[in-house]
Amino acid sequence: MIEVKQLGKSFGDLVVFRDIHLHIHPREIVVLVGPSGSGKSTLLRCLNGLEEPDAGSVVIGDASWDFSMDVSSKKQAIRKIRTSTGMVFQSFNLFPHMTVLENVIMAPTIVKKMSRTEAVEIGEALLAKVGLLNKRDEYPSRLSGGQQQRVAIARALAMQPEIMLFDEPTSALDPELTGEVLAVMKQLAEEGMTMIVVTHEMKFAREVANRVIFMSDGVIQEESTPEQFFKQPKTERARKFLRQIE
Ligand code: ATP
Ligand code: MG
Repeated sequence: MIEVKQLGKSFGDLVVFRDIHLHIHPREIVVLVGPSGSGKSTLLRCLNGLEEPDAGSVVIGDASWDFSMDVSSKKQAIRKIRTSTGMVFQSFNLFPHMTVLENVIMAPTIVKKMSRTEAVEIGEALLAKVGLLNKRDEYPSRLSGGQQQRVAIARALAMQPEIMLFDEPTSALDPELTGEVLAVMKQLAEEGMTMIVVTHEMKFAREVANRVIFMSDGVIQEESTPEQFFKQPKTERARKFLRQIE
């Protein structure tokens, strides 16, 4: 499903990570954790082509990308990877001048050239799924943060991605609003979506993840089941990290 080999990324002199290998199975839920600045967001951004890695290769579904490709093949590969990858960010990034439904149906109609009728049908079904069909004609500014983030999830799902990437989707929310977003994510996981989730919500990691990956100092320090990771982290670095977030 996802196969990452020898992935590396630097910004000038700063090596964010190097030699990252990842193999993610269909329907797997991977929670990615690590200290601030350890490269979690950069890794997700390299996976969907928002950032260009400077070493290695990425395969997502039937799209593949290799850093040594020529510019036009790279562009084409990245376009393909983007359409099969849904991404949800900490800040909801909804288009403020569009209604909730328009936000959700924009990419499928423009990128996938889906007919408006079909896109509206899918969009409404997704809004119902995240519990917001009654807000379809509202503008984002009139929604709570949790509602906006659920719209952002519906919008990412509208492209019918093979995999969903979440980068701290609840970090910008008031604590009482995180639950509704996590519930939608948990439901997606139960329905068999493949997901990589960067989050500080350790309860979510314990309950939903199949695997926890701990990144620090530019490398994957350890990967284990949530039970193992939280009970008996293998490295001192992870023990320290867990003490700090408790
Ligand atoms: P956080 O938990 O705070 O979100 P993170 O693990 O997501 O951190 P990244 O945002 O991936 O970390 O950043 C990794 C490192 O790369 C940081 O040192 C950051 O300052 C640096 N960095 C990220 N983006 C850029 C950029 N566009 N240009 C230069 N440096 C960058
Ligand atoms: Mg980040």
